[in-house]
Amino acid sequence: MHAVHQLHHFRKSLSTTTYKARGQRVIRCSLCQLSKQYCICSIAPKANELKSNAGFLLLMYDTEVLKPSNTGKLIADLIPDTYAFLWSRTTKNDELQAVLDDEQWQPFVVFPQEYAQLGRRVESKAVKCELGKRPLFIMLDGSWREAKKMFRKSPYLDKFPMVSFDPKVFTESCLTQSNMVDAAYSPVGENSRYTVRKTELAHQFSTAEVGARVLAMFGEHDNAHLLDLWFDVFNFQYQKSVCQRNKGNPEAIENYQRFKKEKI
Ligand SMILES: [Zn+2]
Repeated sequence: MHAVHQLHHFRKSLSTTTYKARGQRVIRCSLCQLSKQYCICSIAPKANELKSNAGFLLLMYDTEVLKPSNTGKLIADLIPDTYAFLWSRTTKNDELQAVLDDEQWQPFVVFPQEYAQLGRRVESKAVKCELGKRPLFIMLDGSWREAKKMFRKSPYLDKFPMVSFDPKVFTESCLTQSNMVDAAYSPVGENSRYTVRKTELAHQFSTAEVGARVLAMFGEHDNAHLLDLWFDVFNFQYQKSVCQRNKGNPEAIENYQRFKKEKI
């Protein structure tokens, strides 16, 4: 069990009622949260199979971790150093603070540039760390409204630089990188493929898609690409499990497995 699985169990233990997700009659896998029939756990990377110099810290808004549609867990499936905590405006969390204080990390808050306070450092092209440090990408995981609230009301994050990307610029720069992709089976584009949830803006990305983009900005293109393909697998299987009209990619599993075999 990785950090998001553990947080899921913990949050569930706090609930007095069952979280009512869409398709609540579905019998779900306790890990990937997909209907058992469409579970993807057997094809998930094994623990520590991937190597990454980056870490992720998911701050999850209340019931976000209980939502089967959550994609933060897909980052934890791939990236060994992924931490997950429930966000709280008021309660101090010592474990969270210990991760933020850990010298090996250089924390970055991943959030759109337009919300940056005056004078705040924002990396919008490449992510570079001080010598001897590894980036820790802090993801605010919730609905867009919740993410904005977490951004505004977490003063302990204000001292860290931000990482932002412009979806359009990002696509162009990726396509000109020779070591990135085989565009033929790259799902990366300027529009989110996340059709599971309605978002306010067409280009608003899921947490996993954003994770893939910041990994690419850090130069880990294969990990970024695999995360994108893994997201596609989840997106396709999720839609099957809730029986909604499937807008996912029917070749998602094949693409993911082929890339993983070749590159990882
Ligand atoms: Zn599963």
